[in-house]
Amino acid sequence: MEIMNVKLERCKQCYLCAQHCPNEAITFSEVLNTAGYNYACVNDEICIRCGICYIMCPDGVYSIVKNPSENGGLQNG
Ligand code: SF4
Ligand code: SF4
Repeated sequence: MEIMNVKLERCKQCYLCAQHCPNEAITFSEVLNTAGYNYACVNDEICIRCGICYIMCPDGVYSIVKNPSENGGLQNG
């Protein structure tokens, strides 16, 4: 199964993705990325893989990848 991958260091916390997500699947981290922003986090349990966050993000944070739990990789990075 595929999931939305978040390149957390690119996020500038503009909220465009979260504002347009139809399922309220995006929240923001409590810790900061190296740029000083709380970064977007996707709840894979409720994400419907519509791709709207990918379209809306001006900083190329999102990509669609195979679920890392199925191949041992990491979701964020
Ligand atoms: S793919 Fe769609 S449902 Fe999933 S986080 Fe992005 S906007 Fe929300
Ligand atoms: S649209 Fe992109 S830069 Fe803006 S909060 Fe979402 S992931 Fe971060």
